Amino acid sequence: MSGQGFNPFQMAQQQFDAVAEKLGLEQAVRDLLRWPEREYQFNIPIRMDDGTYRVFRGFRVQHNDARGPAKGGIRFHPQETLDTVRALAMWMTWKTAVVDIPLGGGKGGVVCDPHNLSMREQEQICRGWVRQIVRNIGPYQDVPAPDVMTTSQHMIWMLDEYEKITGIKAPGVITGKPIGLGGSLGRTEATGYGVVYTIREALKYLGLDITKTSASFQGFGNVSQYALQLYNQLGGTSIAVSTWNHKEQKSFTFRKKNGIQFDELITITNKFGEIDKDKAQELGYEILPGNAWLEEEVDILVPAAIENQINKDTVSLIKPTVKIIAEGANGPTTPEADEVLKARNIHVIPDFLANAGGVTCSYFEQVQSNTNYYWTKEEVLSKLDQKMTSAYLSVLELANKEGVYMRDAAYMISISRVSEAVKLRGWV
Ligand code: GLU
Repeated sequence: MSGQGFNPFQMAQQQFDAVAEKLGLEQAVRDLLRWPEREYQFNIPIRMDDGTYRVFRGFRVQHNDARGPAKGGIRFHPQETLDTVRALAMWMTWKTAVVDIPLGGGKGGVVCDPHNLSMREQEQICRGWVRQIVRNIGPYQDVPAPDVMTTSQHMIWMLDEYEKITGIKAPGVITGKPIGLGGSLGRTEATGYGVVYTIREALKYLGLDITKTSASFQGFGNVSQYALQLYNQLGGTSIAVSTWNHKEQKSFTFRKKNGIQFDELITITNKFGEIDKDKAQELGYEILPGNAWLEEEVDILVPAAIENQINKDTVSLIKPTVKIIAEGANGPTTPEADEVLKARNIHVIPDFLANAGGVTCSYFEQVQSNTNYYWTKEEVLSKLDQKMTSAYLSVLELANKEGVYMRDAAYMISISRVSEAVKLRGWV
């Protein structure tokens, strides 16, 4: 998905190969880690509301489970491909390793567009997805979660189907569930808040006062919404947000130079994170082209939509004022663009570190579900802050010690942890 000719799996392998070389990894370890351990592809036949039948394509890729059960979300997207899911599964392995939680990496998807599906049809897809993979997921095998265009509602349908088939209550099989049905307080906020915990630490490191900084965001889905909310609460000024417009099939940037208020923007945002153009105009937002978010004269950029957004064609749009790029999305920056950011000395908080708050909280959810004892929101968020802060500081320390780019330092930590696990297990 996301761009002609762009293959996220090739990008993920390219990133891995470069660091494997730097670390001098043995050939067998490289061969094992540059491909997923297991991949499943299947059909999901559904009876539509009008009585006709349609068949959707589903995937689950388990990249690596040496450090614990595979873990990662399920995306519903019309341009989903096996290679996208492979890349995202691989990035999940590095993500769980960089925050040092006892889980591996996996990802799933269904080629479909929820914009054009009723809730009943989406429920059938969720249940059909579980029926096809039920033997290969589970609290001790592989634990799915929400991702692009899937929510707690999808997760509870999936859990329900799993429990119906297996005949047991197993809330630990899936995370991102609704509160009261095995979900964790703080899970909804976790990814966005996690992004801001790392921004807060990066600002301290750079000696910048957050209240004197400004930021521009791409996307206004779950990650961006809570990132913007917490960034504002800590005193930062959010200038611009860019979102997809399904009706016009292109994106737009919404700008308020004196600062966007979360409570206002959320009232004109639909469940897919798309901002209503007409209502935005009435509320005094300037409406600019989709890429304008990247051209703002801000201190911080937060790409929190999809892959391949900061690439060789767009990287030159970034203004000299930008000091930090905190990647809320998975894979938003290509290796070509990375070279430019490195040369410009922009402090990049790489995706699998910056957005690890979601899976970290999923891990907390799993612990709570498996023990059937639930924590307060304060407890969850303070544990999340600790995990994110210490992961960020470890990456920063290594980057400074070795004189390497933040993304390379994060990769070095993750790949070392995973390669140690596969070697200790005697796999290679
Ligand atoms: N889909 C999220 C991610 O990309 C969360 C995964 C999870 O909670 O397992 O990190």
